[in-house]
Amino acid sequence: MFVSKNLEVNEKGHLTIAGNDAVSLAREYGTPVYVMDEELIRENCRKFSESFASYYDGNGMTLYASKAFSCKEIYRIVDQEGMGADVVSLGELYTALSAGFPAEKIYFHGNNKSREELEYALSHDIGCIVVDNLEELGQLDLLAGQMGKRPGIMFRIKPGIDAHTHDFIRTGQIDSKFGLALETGEAMTVLKRASAMEHLYLKGVHCHIGSQIFDLEPFKAAAEVMLRLIAQLKEETGIEVEQLNLGGGFGIKYTLEDQPVSYEKYMKEVSVTVNEVVRELGLNRPFILIEPGRSIVGPAGTTLYTVGAVKEIPGIRTYVSVDGGMTDNPRYALYQAKYDMALANKAGEEKNTVVTVAGKCCESGDLLGESIPLQRAEAGDVLAVFATGAYNYSMASRYNRTPVPPVVMVKDGESRLIVKRETLEDLTRNDL
Ligand SMILES: *Cc1c(COP(=O)(O)O)cnc(C)c1O
Repeated sequence: MFVSKNLEVNEKGHLTIAGNDAVSLAREYGTPVYVMDEELIRENCRKFSESFASYYDGNGMTLYASKAFSCKEIYRIVDQEGMGADVVSLGELYTALSAGFPAEKIYFHGNNKSREELEYALSHDIGCIVVDNLEELGQLDLLAGQMGKRPGIMFRIKPGIDAHTHDFIRTGQIDSKFGLALETGEAMTVLKRASAMEHLYLKGVHCHIGSQIFDLEPFKAAAEVMLRLIAQLKEETGIEVEQLNLGGGFGIKYTLEDQPVSYEKYMKEVSVTVNEVVRELGLNRPFILIEPGRSIVGPAGTTLYTVGAVKEIPGIRTYVSVDGGMTDNPRYALYQAKYDMALANKAGEEKNTVVTVAGKCCESGDLLGESIPLQRAEAGDVLAVFATGAYNYSMASRYNRTPVPPVVMVKDGESRLIVKRETLEDLTRNDL
């Protein structure tokens, strides 16, 4: 009935999130509010780590791709779960370090890192910089030399696999702003150059083939392509890099029709592929990294809103407007992302209307969804949008000077604030 297993209906007919009455949460913290389920986040973390133990002798590490949801508390949780973290900006790196996250377990991504970002990363001795291009390589080697550092690096490679086509394709992904192309020989040229650089330590190679992927084949194909690259580099330079980072992108259930891959199955099948290819190529088994973001936090989040105006346009559609919108969840406005929703105070009732859920911004495209099956809505109802734990809070904006909503963590029937609601003073803090 619900997309996430932590959602139920209690005796009052109210939605519960990990045992917490959603209507009470809305009352206590106000709306809109992001609610995150700590146990579900931890369980998702463990699924990945345990699969490494079961299928790859534990010779790997899960990095949480923190752009999906970044705040101090999530770095503490992920650290307690023994994972590393990916960051893609100075802001995420700063947040991780402020939360006490171990610098040596941080991997720093980005296609256009600034000098300030690189200096900050070097001065804090973070674990690995995932270099995107030749320009960055040169700048990093120079900076590292000046600062007396020798950071670990890996390269972002475009493996030529596009996981987003129905039948995924093995070539033709050269047109991406991220990384170095394999087909053109660019990747090999840059890797060779890096392996000779005095102030950098070439740890490995990285790829990330897409997001919200439901199919295992492209992941296996990418692993094979990357291992062949490692073998070629070994052949041409004598250097065999130790780490293979296979990125993230595991799909989650946004709607009842979505059928995500099982992460255990992913690890099992990818391990088989790696073992076979490594044997064929005469390589050592690399230390494998994976970078799930959405699949760690996405299913654990629910956003609660209060319904205001309900506007029925006869023969056309019914607009149900809520007190948030594209400012707290821009994903529908950006790419028509689909969500499952319910009225938290009527969760036990049948969904007998089909509506368009609109936000409150001055923008016609400010919708949370169209053709949404919902219980009959009226002003004052609490609308719950499910699976909003990833790329919602982290993508929030202040359009129309809308304060960013708070994040509440629920666990064992208790709730606590982990990010406060922005205030009107916060909005004008930097205005001169
Ligand atoms: C976005 C991103 C991820 C995480 O992707 P998800 O779809 O959230 O799992 C991992 N690695 C890199 C390099 C990314 O850019």
